[in-house]
Amino acid sequence: MWDRLANRSNTADGPKMTEWRRRRGKAVHLRDWKPLVQQVDSAQSMHETNVNHPANDSNCGLYVHLPFCETKCGYCDFYSVPTHGRDTAPLVFAIVRELKRRTDHIEQRILTIFCGGGTPTILPIDQLDAVLTPLGGLAKRHDSIEFTVEANPATVDDEKTRLMVSAGVGRVSMGAQSFFPSELAALERLHDPDDIPVSFATLRRNGVERINLDLIFGIPGQTLETWSQSLRRAVDLSPDHLACYGLTYEPATRLTAQRNLGKITPCGENLEAEMFELTTETLEAAGFKQYEISNYALPGCECAHNVGYWRNQPYVAVGPSAVGCIHGERYKNIADIGGYIRMIDERGDAVVERETLTGEMLVLEMVMMQMRLVEGLSISAFRARIGIDPRALFQRPIERLAELGKIQVSDTHIALTQSGRLVADRVMTQLVGEPATGPISLPVLSG
Ligand code: SF4
Repeated sequence: MWDRLANRSNTADGPKMTEWRRRRGKAVHLRDWKPLVQQVDSAQSMHETNVNHPANDSNCGLYVHLPFCETKCGYCDFYSVPTHGRDTAPLVFAIVRELKRRTDHIEQRILTIFCGGGTPTILPIDQLDAVLTPLGGLAKRHDSIEFTVEANPATVDDEKTRLMVSAGVGRVSMGAQSFFPSELAALERLHDPDDIPVSFATLRRNGVERINLDLIFGIPGQTLETWSQSLRRAVDLSPDHLACYGLTYEPATRLTAQRNLGKITPCGENLEAEMFELTTETLEAAGFKQYEISNYALPGCECAHNVGYWRNQPYVAVGPSAVGCIHGERYKNIADIGGYIRMIDERGDAVVERETLTGEMLVLEMVMMQMRLVEGLSISAFRARIGIDPRALFQRPIERLAELGKIQVSDTHIALTQSGRLVADRVMTQLVGEPATGPISLPVLSG
C-alpha cells in the first residue's frame, strides 16, 4: 500500500535529485508504455508559477556534487565516500574546473544553485572557499534567486558559516533525520540529537536566512510518538522548510543487509502511513504548507531549486556521479573520484552516459515529476511541450483514479489527492500505464 519512493526522491543530504532513474520512478518502465511517437515538435516554455519558481526553459538550475562524508550511513546508496583522512583537494579542484567549463558560456540564466553531496561542509575551509567563491560569482552574475548548501549537524562552525554567507549562500539544508539517539544509531548517523539545535543556532547566528531540516520516518524502532516528538522539536527550531521522507531499503546498503538477515524489523506499512498523515497534520497546524509529497514550507519558502526539477526545468550538474539534463540531453558523470579527476584532466569532462530525451520519455518525466507537486501536472505546460491535452491522453486512467478518489482534475492541473499521495507511485504508474489509444500521437522532441 505504501509508496516509499514517493517520499524518498529528495533529501537534503544526498544527491537524490540528480539520480534521474529514481526521479523518473522505479515502478515505471518505458517498455510498459508504448504511445505512438510520430510528429516533430519543439519544446516550449511552461507557464504555471503557483510555487516560488519562475518556470521558463531559458532558466536552469545548477547542482554541484561533493561526494565526501565522514562515514557512510547504513541506509545511504548515493555516491558518497568516507574521507578517512584522504586529501580531498584534487577532487575539489577538478570539480571547480568542470564548473568553469560548464558555466563560462552558458546560455541559460542560472536561476538556482544547490551544492550538495555528500557533506560539503566537511571540507577544509580553503577547499570549501574554492568551491563556494565561484558559485557565489555565478549567483551574482545570473542574479540567482536561491543558493543552497547541504550540511550535516556537527559539521558547521562559525568560520564555515561566515564563509558560506559571504559567498552568497542564503539557504542551508541540514540532515537532522531524528531527535532520538536510538533512531540515529539505527540509521548509522554520526551526530547526536543535541548537535541539531547547536548547528542550527550557528547558522542563524551567522546570518543564514533560510534553513531546511530533513527528517526521516519509518526508522526501525520508531513509534508514532517519537516521530511526533521529532517533528515538534524540528518545528520548535523555526526552520522555514522541512523535508520528511519515508525510509527506504535500497539494494546494497548495510541497512537492507541487516533487514535481510532479520537483524532489524522494518516499521510496518500501516504505521508509516500514519506517520505520513501525522506529518501533514502537525506541519500544517504549525503554518507549513505541503507543496510536494515530502516537502513542507512556510509561505514563499519552497525550495526553488527542487521545484525546478519537479517542473522538468533544465539543470546543469557538476561532480562525480552528477546527472544533468540540458538542451534535451541527459548526461551522467562517472561515479568514481579517481576516474573523475583523470577524465577532467584529460578531456575536460567526465561524462560516461548520454541520452537524448524522446517525447515518450518527456511525457513520463512530466507526469512522474510534476505529479509529486501538490499543485500537480500543469495541463497547459504539458500541452505546450507535448502538444496533447493530458486529459485526453490519459482519459481512461484519469476517470478510474478520480472515481477512486486518488486524483482530482481542475481546469489547470491534474493532481493527487491526499489519499493519492499515500500511494503516489502506484497512482502515477497507473496513470501512465494506460494511455488512450486511437489517433493520438506524441511528438519526437527536436532537443
Ligand atoms: S551523510 Fe550519510 S546519508 Fe548523507 S550522503 Fe553522507 S553517507 Fe549518505
